[in-house]
Amino acid sequence: MQSRTHLLSTLTWKTVRKQKYEVAVLPWGATEPHNYHLPFCTDVIESDYIASESARRAGERGAKIIVLPTIPLGVNTGQLDLNMTINMNPSTQALVLKDVVDSVSRHGIKKFLILNSHGGNDFKQMVRELQPQYPHMFLGTINWWQIVDQGAFFDEKDDHAGEMETSVMLVIAPDLVLPLSEAGPGKAHPFKLKGLRERVAWTPREWTKATSDTGVGDPRKATAEKGKKYLEAVTSKIGDFLVELGKTDVKDLYEKPRA
Ligand SMILES: [Zn+2]
Repeated sequence: MQSRTHLLSTLTWKTVRKQKYEVAVLPWGATEPHNYHLPFCTDVIESDYIASESARRAGERGAKIIVLPTIPLGVNTGQLDLNMTINMNPSTQALVLKDVVDSVSRHGIKKFLILNSHGGNDFKQMVRELQPQYPHMFLGTINWWQIVDQGAFFDEKDDHAGEMETSVMLVIAPDLVLPLSEAGPGKAHPFKLKGLRERVAWTPREWTKATSDTGVGDPRKATAEKGKKYLEAVTSKIGDFLVELGKTDVKDLYEKPRA
């Protein structure tokens, strides 16, 4: 059982009222199908776990981190026709984000980090817009699946519900993963246009046309062992950053010019 001293969802006022936290972490997921074998809230479970495990690691080294309750709804405008997918538009997310940042800014939090778990969420522009309104705060965002080379851990790079996500879920929530014999192959249908395939241009994918089983990436080589090693690499990297950020003065983020 991991220590819960950094998880707001499990803390009481008796504890929280006396604490001075340095960094607030907001995990953000999505509610959408993940092939046939992973649960709808895979991204919620992942961001919740990765935020709390990273904060636990940083806490062991003295950092004062508070992990906020995970926001469970992501941008899913390309999946609206998939039964029970719940979309939260970017403009709504921006309002939610502002309310959360504004709340914690009143409690002395000067460093705020979003821990994003969903490819359709993109917080960079929201942070750019929000930053001038909170000039005394550090606002940042992490896409956890992009910070460690997946090639060192997995046979195939994952896009959605493939080898990496399945391996990770076999560690975090194995009871919610169906046997891999029930998973589809996660074969994507690429765009006809070469320029879109080669990423000269980008356009959002219509999921029902771009996939067969809602997955993009073959999950069948996933194992808990691979997931454990990868999660250790990801959470230790984020934990290191939380320690570094916790110690840093927000007004002193840049190196001095060399003489
Ligand atoms: Zn996912």
